Amino acid sequence: GTPKLTFDELIRHWADEKPDRVALEQDGDALTFAQLEERSRRIVAMLQAHGLGRGDRIAWLGKNARHYFELFYSAARIGVVMVPIGWRLAAPEIAYILGDTGAKILFTDEGFDELAAKACSEMKSPPEVIGTAAAKTEIAAAPADDFVGAGPNDAVLQLYTSGTTGNPKGAVLTNANLFSLRAPAEEAAQPWSQWAEDEAILICMPCAHIGGTGLGIMALAAGVRGIVQAEFTPDGVLDGFEQGITRLFIVPAALQMVVHHPRARTTDMSGVKYVMYGAAPIPLDLLREAVQTIPDAGFLQCYGMTETTGTIAMLPPEDHCLEGNRRMKSAGKAVPGAELKVVCENGEELPSGEVGELVCKSPSNMIGYWNLPEATEGALKDGWMYTGDAAFMDEDGYVYIQDRMKDMIISGGENVYPAQVESAIYGHPAVGELAVIGVPDDTWGEAVKACVVPKPGVAFDPDDVIAFTRERLAGFKVPKTVDVIAEMPRNASGKILRRELRAPYWEGRDRQVN
Ligand code: ATP
Ligand code: MG
Repeated sequence: GTPKLTFDELIRHWADEKPDRVALEQDGDALTFAQLEERSRRIVAMLQAHGLGRGDRIAWLGKNARHYFELFYSAARIGVVMVPIGWRLAAPEIAYILGDTGAKILFTDEGFDELAAKACSEMKSPPEVIGTAAAKTEIAAAPADDFVGAGPNDAVLQLYTSGTTGNPKGAVLTNANLFSLRAPAEEAAQPWSQWAEDEAILICMPCAHIGGTGLGIMALAAGVRGIVQAEFTPDGVLDGFEQGITRLFIVPAALQMVVHHPRARTTDMSGVKYVMYGAAPIPLDLLREAVQTIPDAGFLQCYGMTETTGTIAMLPPEDHCLEGNRRMKSAGKAVPGAELKVVCENGEELPSGEVGELVCKSPSNMIGYWNLPEATEGALKDGWMYTGDAAFMDEDGYVYIQDRMKDMIISGGENVYPAQVESAIYGHPAVGELAVIGVPDDTWGEAVKACVVPKPGVAFDPDDVIAFTRERLAGFKVPKTVDVIAEMPRNASGKILRRELRAPYWEGRDRQVN
């Protein structure tokens, strides 16, 4: 049949096809597709009783929870747009997002009432707040009679970008954005787009990001079990392995914690089919270690952004072999249905091998940023999403992400991509975490600086790090200075905030950005 591109169609479809299979579960508490269909009708009734309909916003403040996904799916059935808010945000940041979206109701999970109240107290017209206990009693009402399901082009999700390079922006995503690349094809083009009946996806990244909520969407599209964990912990992932998860998505920082966990050596990981990782550059040494630690799994690197509903390029398992493989440094090639090219400043396509801005045409591209017409115009041109990432493409269409355009260092007229320098330094035995930034330099314009959190209990010598890097990289890429820092500034998705590390050095000066 035709691909199903809406929550309403998918929920009805799976409730018909496999009513008794588990759709969502958390801590062993499971909900079948038939129960999901029935419960979501009652949630729809509750939302309608609050006067909500197509285009209205509701928000969620809490960790990952099965009932978050139920609420999101149900709202999406009738075109009510869900705005999940990162639970690590501070009250003023939450107030900003609530005000920006004009959410009518804020649903809070247990433990977040105080934070929600604080955020609302800072607002002129705060939303109605409904806690989990109250929501439970309201949901007990009768199911909605027939309702008109939202169509493919109706907005259903508004996700804020991670705020790595500046303020978070609300990407507005439609049903079709969410499902067009994920709809199970009749004849799946790739082995990993085929699903066995008993598969289970671990959802452990924060639901306020596409790497969390997107995994729920993937589970529903494929009609398989979504296993929800409140938040990422390395133990939780290892428990998941033992409980039969077949796929998961985690960011490199999380993968590192799993791989380095003492239990990683004793946990049975043979049931895992695919380890999806991405959302930030991964050091090659870490990737090799991960492949060796979880040898039975196929590794899939995912490249994408909030604005493209996540993955638009993938590095397939066969490009993860450990011997003599230069492709392992690539973020992969365009997934079926998406198109990628590398362009120069005037938007013209560059020949392979040349570094420019990566742009993407895909049915998963957002319809725009909420309330930011200028930013939308700058990001979406003729249907192409300008990613802000510097990259080159090889002859076979594999993309090599260099770094964020905004983080590129221009030193003595040479372009230096911090991620490449970080990848080289990462192998140094005394280096725990690190970030490379550009600092002002009277001679070179910018100079390369490494900020390092040393490994505990190991003697640290900055000059040794510089010497180590000199053996591996061209001279202009080698850090001129190395700073020791106590803690790496990261956002909730685990991404390093280089702008925070840069700030003290650039105080009172303008940093030129491409
Ligand atoms: P903001 O846009 O607010 O600055 P952000 O760009 O970090 O934050 P996200 O949409 O969560 O917000 O992240 C998308 C970005 O993550 C991409 O533009 C890219 O820079 C980076 N990224 C994603 N996947 C990969 C990958 N596989 N390798 C390297 N970088 C990646
Ligand atoms: Mg971004």
